Amino acid sequence: MEQKIFYIKTFGCQMNERDSEIMAQTLSGHGYIESMNYQEADLVILNTCSIRAKAEQKVLSLLGYLRKAKKNRPSMKICVAGCVAQQEGSRLIERMPHVDLVIGTQQIYHLEKHLQRVALEGSLVVTDLRDDYEIPQFLPEINQLGRAFETHLPCPSPRPWRKFVTIMQGCNNYCTYCVVPYTRGREISRIVNDIIEEVKAFVKEGVQEITLLGQNVNSYGKTNAVAETGASYTFTDLLKEVSQVEGVARLRFTTSNPKDLTDELMRSFRDVKNLCPQFHLPVQSGSDRILKRMNRKYTTSEYLEKIEKLHDYCPELALTTDIIVGFPGEEDRDFEETMNLLEKVRFHGSFSFKYSDRSGTVASTFAEKVDEEVKVARLSRFQSRQDEISLERNREYIGTVKEVMIEERGLDGLRGRTDTNHIVHLNNCTAGHAAGTIIAVKIIHAGQHSLQGEVYNLH
Ligand code: SF4
Repeated sequence: MEQKIFYIKTFGCQMNERDSEIMAQTLSGHGYIESMNYQEADLVILNTCSIRAKAEQKVLSLLGYLRKAKKNRPSMKICVAGCVAQQEGSRLIERMPHVDLVIGTQQIYHLEKHLQRVALEGSLVVTDLRDDYEIPQFLPEINQLGRAFETHLPCPSPRPWRKFVTIMQGCNNYCTYCVVPYTRGREISRIVNDIIEEVKAFVKEGVQEITLLGQNVNSYGKTNAVAETGASYTFTDLLKEVSQVEGVARLRFTTSNPKDLTDELMRSFRDVKNLCPQFHLPVQSGSDRILKRMNRKYTTSEYLEKIEKLHDYCPELALTTDIIVGFPGEEDRDFEETMNLLEKVRFHGSFSFKYSDRSGTVASTFAEKVDEEVKVARLSRFQSRQDEISLERNREYIGTVKEVMIEERGLDGLRGRTDTNHIVHLNNCTAGHAAGTIIAVKIIHAGQHSLQGEVYNLH
């Protein structure tokens, strides 16, 4: 049987990255091989993101390109997965009749079944989003960790020393600007044993760093029973259990909504030894008036209180956040409060964006839209001040010795990552330093987005 070739393009968050790995593994298990060149693929999958208008535009323009590619290769099948697929459904095939399959965010595990139906029945849209959905168990297989190395393509496996493990899907928070509750559905948590089994399977294959993934991991185990006993089981319980899996050198998690951040979870940064001192805690705005309009359900003083506690439990904690500027109704005074919050917390880094209407969200119906040039000005002011602070925070590491996990050889030499999630470019590294090994490094220089270090001999 002629071997089929697939190509996956992933947009958006780490959840999408993990979903793409699962689809790639499914296809490889059915005799497909992967290509990094969509023009030679029999099956092209776009795993999409709709968190901002720009993300959706990127997908639509790539689909335009694929129309031409399909003209040259009529047997090519095009599948759109992820949040744009969930949001648009059959509208996508109406707009792009060259698309063969549209699968929603709960359908990735059934990709092969849907492809068989396309082969028999023609184009297909499957976007059921069920509240009683159970996330199937899906164990990694060794050769899938090095996805590309079986093909004739140059670059071997992406990052087999650290892996994402999805622990839940969906969100019940309905922040007024966010599409996630509509594209990923209600919160559904995976069974504890399934997660532990997946972590063990990854560790057995040499993975040392595990990142637990969910849209709001703090709510893990709240909406459905996850423990065999049926007893209540929290995210902190899961963190402790995963941290005890032998071989997990580093543990991380993302993403958390500050309103669900408990004292118990904050203490984990002190008590769970292999939990990395790095925390991404999206605040979105420094103005209580805007936080209310966003339906974030906390105030800046409550947020700051939690930051203070976190630093009491873990003084070396590196904090990052998300910020939206130009939310409908945001006035200069609101934005000044966001700038004040940045000065108070001095985040190590942040992802900041201009607000954009997302269809179906409450905020898209709000009046008082902020002019584009005002948004641009606020974003640029926020980002340049953040860059200054990131540089100042990075300089605090100069002269310290940090544990660095070796990652890969870049154009500028070997690089790694600290437990605080800082990238470190390494000077005097030898070939002996394999990816995944953890070494002591003395930080000798700091830039805005990375550090520079040299191997430090502890003896
Ligand atoms: S908590 Fe996060 S994922 Fe959930 S609705 Fe709010 S912004 Fe979206």
